[in-house]
Amino acid sequence: MFEYNNKIKNLIPYNPVTVSYAIRLDANESFVTPNEEIKEEILNEIAKLQLNRYPDPYAVEACSGFAQYFSVHPENIVAGNGSDELISIIMTVFLQKGDKVLSLSDDFSMYSFYTSLVDCKNIVIQKNDDYSVDIDKIINTANEKSARIIIFSNPCNPTGRVIKREDLRRLIKSVNSLVVLDEAYMDFSDESMLCEFANYDNLIILKTCSKAIGMAGIRLGFAIANNDLINVLKAAKSPYNVNVISQKICSVLFSHNDYIDNSIKRVLESRDSLYSQLDALSNELSNPFTVIKPHTNFVFMKYKDADKLHNYLTINSISVRFISGGLRITAGRNYENAELVNTIRLFLTNEIK
Ligand SMILES: *Cc1c(COP(=O)(O)O)cnc(C)c1O
Repeated sequence: MFEYNNKIKNLIPYNPVTVSYAIRLDANESFVTPNEEIKEEILNEIAKLQLNRYPDPYAVEACSGFAQYFSVHPENIVAGNGSDELISIIMTVFLQKGDKVLSLSDDFSMYSFYTSLVDCKNIVIQKNDDYSVDIDKIINTANEKSARIIIFSNPCNPTGRVIKREDLRRLIKSVNSLVVLDEAYMDFSDESMLCEFANYDNLIILKTCSKAIGMAGIRLGFAIANNDLINVLKAAKSPYNVNVISQKICSVLFSHNDYIDNSIKRVLESRDSLYSQLDALSNELSNPFTVIKPHTNFVFMKYKDADKLHNYLTINSISVRFISGGLRITAGRNYENAELVNTIRLFLTNEIK
């Protein structure tokens, strides 16, 4: 009989949202999509591709587009099939069985998932009650336990909080671990370490096209690090990990800096408006819930009956993420935000009565 090994015994397939909702604010996708002109350019470029040929293994054109937008050197970048794939590659190459990975809670669930898959141990540091992070605790724990990797998102999914650059510098300098800094949401904040990666031999920064660039569907992420680390990732990844269509779409998008700038601006406006509306609602109803000031394209709402509210929103065809004792709500179009806030108001006023 075929026996399954321990690390996969409790695995369950990822459960995506498959029901169709009128309003989808659950996956931190962007509501901004390219205009007709850019769409046509994408289609024209795709029509010219030779789909019988393997893609460029190093996605040079896509990496160059990313590089010029973010002012980093293209040679310091590796492209992945989403940053998810890059997390998996990093865990596979830099860890050996039994090694320890330090992560934070609450944070992105994929870190511990990929750690377990390579038979390594998760060390989880609990954040403070206000979801701030104790940097000294991370440094001390990483050094005491000889963590091989420290990984976390900054700004954080799901809390929306950001750790400041000065704290990050101190952390990276004070440990012997590889620090993997997931900056998936950094375009909505201002504490990026992207300009400084070259100062460290133990820092990998992850970026993605799925959030600010609005291209979750093309599955494209980037790792940025010094030459030695990048060469390891290049050598360890599967050769044709990013398909030719995604590479092309990416390079077209990054040839329109104004489009990307404008997308980010629109998302920030929506995010700020959503935050203000929720904050005002909470004040008006004598603070039944709290919202954390966001540095992301979503707002995290801490609420004791988040599960009930989540159900109520679901019944009203609004999808948000129920996570960490709260709701993570992606900033959407104005009418979607308004509908969401209205529905929350209805729920709360009925509950309070
Ligand atoms: C959405 C997200 C990503 C992006 O993953 P992709 O595989 O590039 O879509 C990475 N990290 C965090 C924390 C995220 O929330």
